[in-house]
Amino acid sequence: MLSIFKKYKNLMRHQHGWKIELKCPQCSHIGIPHYNGWKPNNRIKFGKRSTIFACLDCSHCGNELRDEAGKKLVELFSEIAIPPRNTHLIMWFVVAGMAILVGAYFGKSVIGDWAYIAFIFFPILIRLFNYRVASIRAQCACGNPKYVFMGLLGRTYCYRCSSCARLLRLRD
Ligand SMILES: [Zn+2]
Ligand SMILES: [Zn+2]
Repeated sequence: MLSIFKKYKNLMRHQHGWKIELKCPQCSHIGIPHYNGWKPNNRIKFGKRSTIFACLDCSHCGNELRDEAGKKLVELFSEIAIPPRNTHLIMWFVVAGMAILVGAYFGKSVIGDWAYIAFIFFPILIRLFNYRVASIRAQCACGNPKYVFMGLLGRTYCYRCSSCARLLRLRD
């Protein structure tokens, strides 16, 4: 049982990073910025706007490049579609959620209060769903999946495979 939790935790964890060239507005240097870890960003934007968590500086003058990274993310990922596997999972999530509610409602005379049933099954369903979505980025057509998390575009997670530069956009 413990190994299942460990496997879940490992799969859910994503690696932060940035390996795309940016142009520094201060010194005009174009290059891969210095990546100095990441920090939580509570100002998550919606729609077609991006949220960057990585701390990025110009490798030439040290100027902070978070805004540039934000613009680049929109440019790179706006046209990337969410993979069909992810869309199917969302569909199944909604159907299973409805099934839990309906099942809980009709089963209440047998099992008891439906709220308790939903309380038990919804967290399981959510974890299962997140696990299935995360397993999409555990694979890559190149055979050597190394997906690095670059930021959020609206509510979608943007990844890039360091092995083959393939871009992946996921929604959970
Ligand atoms: Zn610079
Ligand atoms: Zn790849």
